[in-house]
Amino acid sequence: MTLCRLQDHLQACQFESLRCSNAGCSEILLRKDLQEHLRISCSYRMEPCHYCKHPYTCCQLEEHERYTCPEVEIKCPNKCSQMIKRCMLEDHADQCPEVQTDCVYKKYGCSVRERRAQVQVHEKTALNHHILLVLGSNTKLETLMEILQQEVLLRHKELQERSRQVSGLEEVVRPLAQQVSRCDNTLSAVQRSLEDQRDHISSVQLQLEELSSVFGPGVAREELGQIRASLDALRQQVSVTEGLKDHLGELKETYMRHSRLLSIHTAQLECNEEHFRELESTSYDGKLIWKLRDYRKRKEAGARGQGLCLSSAPFHTGRSGYKMAARAYLNGDGAGRDTHLSLYVVLMRGDFDPLLPWPFRQPVSLSVLDQSGTNNHLTMSFKPDPENTSFHRPGSAAATASAPTNVASGFQCFASHAQLETPKNAIYVRDDTLFVKVKVDTSGLEDL
Ligand SMILES: [Zn+2]
Ligand SMILES: [Zn+2]
Ligand SMILES: [Zn+2]
Ligand SMILES: [Zn+2]
Ligand SMILES: [Zn+2]
Repeated sequence: MTLCRLQDHLQACQFESLRCSNAGCSEILLRKDLQEHLRISCSYRMEPCHYCKHPYTCCQLEEHERYTCPEVEIKCPNKCSQMIKRCMLEDHADQCPEVQTDCVYKKYGCSVRERRAQVQVHEKTALNHHILLVLGSNTKLETLMEILQQEVLLRHKELQERSRQVSGLEEVVRPLAQQVSRCDNTLSAVQRSLEDQRDHISSVQLQLEELSSVFGPGVAREELGQIRASLDALRQQVSVTEGLKDHLGELKETYMRHSRLLSIHTAQLECNEEHFRELESTSYDGKLIWKLRDYRKRKEAGARGQGLCLSSAPFHTGRSGYKMAARAYLNGDGAGRDTHLSLYVVLMRGDFDPLLPWPFRQPVSLSVLDQSGTNNHLTMSFKPDPENTSFHRPGSAAATASAPTNVASGFQCFASHAQLETPKNAIYVRDDTLFVKVKVDTSGLEDL
């Protein structure tokens, strides 16, 4: 063998002693025996498990199969005589007829605990017992539910009460909050005004300092003299003014007296004027022509019960005769109400009553005058009944002692409204105006 090939030979020499390459094996062999050892006899070589096909070292394989391989079938540990794969043991325990187990109705109160096979028989045969247990439990549940429902109802009511209280509180709180915000506003306004005042005061202080720096002590003395002089002048003026004030008080009293007198005179004048007007418009020949304006309006007012009775100005039967007046109800009075015009005359207290003959006996005629020019006047007359107190001296009856007039006499149904407002050959209402004439027959009356 050449030296150059020695190196190659040493790499493959069949008689070289070598250590087995499997982890854990400590055997030393010749190279020529190594392959067989590794393949067949090394107890540290890897082989797959017959059942689960996982690789294990040969020395571990037996232990694996006997104790841990999940695919190996073993006898049931509960002695039911079945062969079960090790990995299925847990599942089998849930079905194994030999395992001790509870009846499925345990939670309803059944206390049976036996081998599964026996329990299955019990579950089939004890149906009645189990139904009774379920019913009992159901009854308890129902009672519990009722209690819960009542409690829920109670809670609901409480909740409503609480929410009512809350809304009540909210109502109480709202005005308070408003008040608080108002107070805030006021406070900030006050603060602002306070700051303004502070500014003002500081500016006044500044001015004061300027002034005191301008007026030195010498200037002040001169000024003081002037001020004293002007003060004296002022004092004099004040005393003059006080004298004037006293005088003014006297003048005021005089003025008040005069104004009182003036108002008395004014009232007297008005009274005189009234009297004068009456004298001017009063007739002394026993005749009265009375102009009634606003016929329609006043008639409607009468229908509503307002201003029922209209009175004329007084008239006299002579310079020293009876004092009388006419009365009209445009919407009717008594039997003529709402259908007729009612016309009356009334005797009034006169200045010459003590000199006149009583009772009053002069015939009276009442007319509504035709304004068309054809003189179709509506006229009705009456002769006074001496028994009727209406014609006795006014104020002589006890009942009417203080009344200025007697009870009126005349015609409740003087003329119907149709007769007045839509006559055939006359016009009684023109320009909404009606003329009433009263004539007292003065014959036989001695003029005093
Ligand atoms: Zn060799
Ligand atoms: Zn080995
Ligand atoms: Zn295995
Ligand atoms: Zn079993
Ligand atoms: Zn049971």
